[in-house]
Parts: sequence; structure tokens; C-alpha cells
Amino acid sequence: MNTKYVFITGGVVSGLGKGITAASLGRLLKNRGYKVTIQKFDPYLNIDPGTMNPYEHGEVFVTDDGAETDLDLGHYERFINESLTKNSSVTMGQIYSNVLEKERKGEYLGKTVQVIPHITNEIKERIYEFENTDTEIVITEIGGTVGDIEGLSIIEAIRQVGLEKNPKDVIYIHVTLLPYIFGSNEIKSKPTQHSVKELQSLGIKPDILVCRTEQDIPENIREKLSLFCNVRKTSVIQNKTADCLYAIPLMLEKEGLAREVCNHLKLENYVPDNKKWEEMIKQIREIDKNSEITIGIIGKYIKLEDAYISVIESIRHAGFANNVNVKVKLIDSETITEETVSEKLENIDGIIVPGGFGERGIEGKISTIKYARENKIPFLGICLGMQMAVVEFARDVLNLKDANSSEFSKTTKNPVIHIMEEQKEVRKKGGTMRLGSWECRLKQGTLAKKLYNSETIKERHRHRYEYNNEYKQDLEKAGLICSGTSPDGKLVEIVELDTKIHPYFIASQFHPELKSRPNKPSPLFVGLVQHAKIKSKKNK
Ligand code: GLN
Repeated sequence: MNTKYVFITGGVVSGLGKGITAASLGRLLKNRGYKVTIQKFDPYLNIDPGTMNPYEHGEVFVTDDGAETDLDLGHYERFINESLTKNSSVTMGQIYSNVLEKERKGEYLGKTVQVIPHITNEIKERIYEFENTDTEIVITEIGGTVGDIEGLSIIEAIRQVGLEKNPKDVIYIHVTLLPYIFGSNEIKSKPTQHSVKELQSLGIKPDILVCRTEQDIPENIREKLSLFCNVRKTSVIQNKTADCLYAIPLMLEKEGLAREVCNHLKLENYVPDNKKWEEMIKQIREIDKNSEITIGIIGKYIKLEDAYISVIESIRHAGFANNVNVKVKLIDSETITEETVSEKLENIDGIIVPGGFGERGIEGKISTIKYARENKIPFLGICLGMQMAVVEFARDVLNLKDANSSEFSKTTKNPVIHIMEEQKEVRKKGGTMRLGSWECRLKQGTLAKKLYNSETIKERHRHRYEYNNEYKQDLEKAGLICSGTSPDGKLVEIVELDTKIHPYFIASQFHPELKSRPNKPSPLFVGLVQHAKIKSKKNK
């Protein structure tokens, strides 16, 4: 079968859940037996989001092969339960950089290098990258909104794909907003009409409209959208705001999204095997709303949930697995001191100190960890969270008062966390950390071993600093167990306290949230929520 191409563009406003639409469609086509992959194009000029502030861009999602990518890849992986690669995340920064490199090599010798055809060809190369693989359907989401200047060359490239390929192998889905006007009680189709007009002026006729709406779309509006936007009425798909993120694929199934896609692509619309997903949603909906626990994330980007999206989703997954409703509270680490910590963490049943960079908020994280350790509050530290757990333990238990990470103090006499050997000479900032999936060996008889129930695991990383082995003997003797290391034993990947001393205190150098999926939750999160649930019951 020829590779099929599904392009998803957005109109009217950003933040309509284009990524979730792409991910949901991926799930529905996968449930029909098709081999699907999803790819995102971002119009900005950074090579990747790795160097951006989370407030600019949200979380940086890391793939197994070590690409620092857009957070939508996290949604894709969670919905289609596949591990994606760097091919799935393309920025205009990469496209321009490749073209300019080729120009210097003389690959365009004699020619003027131009947006059309050189930039657009480069874009198409990335789209066609999945040909000759076992992928049957490539879903490509275009970041931004139609009409944005920086996205124009991507729109032009996907138009050309429609021209080059067989018309039955390419479809265009446009995700738009149908605003509801209170007072006149009306759903408005005009912004969508304008957005489609804009798309058509760029040479693309959408085949399917996915309309984000708060209300059911009345028949007359469907007809109007169909007529004015030149889209079959059956291809006007309602995408109502949902109570549960993971229920969206099933909602879109009912609306006929996958059926329409199959029809347009002349694919057999096999009966989808949605059973497992339906069971999962049923189980999620049956969670006893009265049994609620609160997990606190103590970080510094608390004004933007997207900055911790995978962590938040992983907590939810663990909630599903433990049959408990989980409330997530983001707490600003800068507001936490030894004095305020007990008040700030009041009514929190489990604590996560997530990854991060830079000194701001560090002391608040350390006070949080001390509080969790001393008061036996279930605790999970992630990356920087693990590093700070080591610093806290060294300061308080080993009595090394100036213990620190050399990321924050160049002069400390006790750098219990220090820069990794291979990072010492690295001068460039972008893409140079220890990235991607690395193996970790678990120690017999530890909490980590029990949680993962496996000798070795593979988790994803993104860091420059590491546990300083010079302190290992002392730290272990004092009770901070190294329960996971790299296969050569040199890099400490997990630290924990004996469960006889603390019910749940564990921290990892890797980011377990990057591999957690609703139907395959991360063991470290499952353990945290399980113990938070026990703690909350005891307090009642
Ligand atoms: N800043 C720390 C390091 O580079 C932690 C990184 C992280 O939490 N992702 O090692």
C-alpha cells in the first residue's frame, strides 16, 4: 500500500487541541489495524525547543533516540502507545539549517537558493522520511495557525504533497473553533469560514473540518459549514470539550472522524478494536470521586501546567491504576522556606520535585525534600529533584552544611552533585546534554527493584550533572541507598530510603514521566500514588 498522508492544520485560534486531535486519530486508525506514525512541524527557527524557557514553550519532551521535542509528541506517544523518534519532530530551524549547510557544501551549485523549491523540498523530505518503512499512515500536525507568516512555507510544502501524490493518498484536516455567543445563544461559523478561505487562498481545500465547540453543533450550522467551506456534511466533525482527555478518541470515533479519513483515503474502514480503550475509559469514569488525594508538584514554572504536562499526566495514569481521584497542586518552590514549608504543604498526600535548571527556587525544593523525608510524606524526585534529594541528605544527615550541586555553587567544598565528565568540555548549549534512553540496572532487594519488577530498565534522560561517586560510600552508609545505576555501575540513576525508615522516598536521575502511558503507567508514579492514598486514608 502507498503511504497515506494526513495533514492537520489549525485555524481561528491556537490551543484548540490540534495535537490531541492528531493523537486521537492515530489511536483510532491504529485500532483499525493500520500502522500509524505522527509527526509535528513547528514553524519557529530554534533547532528544537531544548533551549527555550518552559514558559515560552511548555515542557520539552525527550524521545528514546534523544531528540528534545515539542510536548505534543508526549500526547502522541500516550495516545498511540508507540515510541517516536526524532523524525517525528521537525522545526523550521532544522529545515533552514539543513538547507544552508547544503548550500555551503555546494549541493545547489549554480542556483539561487529559495524558499520555493529549496525550503519546501527540504520540508517534503522530512514528510516522506517514513516511506519504505512499515508505516502506512503518516499524520502530520502543522504547528501554529493558518495565516501565520512563519508557517507559510510548511503550508506550501503540504500543498505540493497533494499535487505530487495520488489524490487518494493525501487528506487535509482543518481544526477550527466554533465560538458560542452567550446572550444570542448562537454558535458562529464565520471565523471558520474565514479560516478555510485563508487556507484555500494558499491552495489547500480541507477535506475534513474538526470543529471545537462547547455546544452541540445544530444541523443548520453543519449545513452552513458544509456549504460555505466546501466540505461534505459528513466531514464536519464535532469536537466538543471533553471531561476526560483520554475519552476524546472515542468521542471522535462516534462523530465519524476515522470513518471519514478512511473514506477520503480509500482505505478499508475496518471495524475498530476500541474495546481495550473503552474499558480503560469506563474504569477511569468509575473511579470513586470521593476518594481524592492531592499530589503536590514543587517547581518554578507553576503558572503554566504545560511546563509539567508529562508529570501531571503520569500522576493521572497512576491515579487510574490505583483507582483514586488525584488532584494535582502546583506549588511555587520560591515561596517555600524552612518556616513556610509545613503550611505550604498542608493537606498534600504525596510530593514530587520535578526536573529543572538554574538556581531559582532551589532552596525551596531542598526544604520540601527535608520536610517530606522527616515527616514520612511519600516523595518522588525527578532529575533535578533527585539531585536535590542527595544535596539535602548530605547537608542534613552527613552534616556537610555546604553540600551542593556544582550547577549552583562553583565554590562548595562538597559538590555531591557535579558535572558529568563528558560534559566538562562541552561549550554549546543546544542538544548537548546526556539525552534519551539509557539502561539502568536495579539492585536486588530495593524499592526500585520491587516497583519495576525487572533486573534492568530503560528510561529517558536529559541532564548535565550527576551524583558524585566520591560521596557514595558515606551517603549509602548513612542510609541513602543507590538502588539503580548505569550497567557499568558508574552513574547513579536511583536513590531511595529503606522502606523501614520511610514508606516511600525515591528519586531518579531519569525522567520516568516520559514513558508513562494511560494504559501503562510508570511504576515510580504508581508507587507514589499508592502510598499517598495510604497516607490520606490514615489521616482521615
Ligand atoms: N539541571 C540538572 C542537570 O543538568 C537537572 C536537569 C533536569 O532536571 N532535567 O543535570
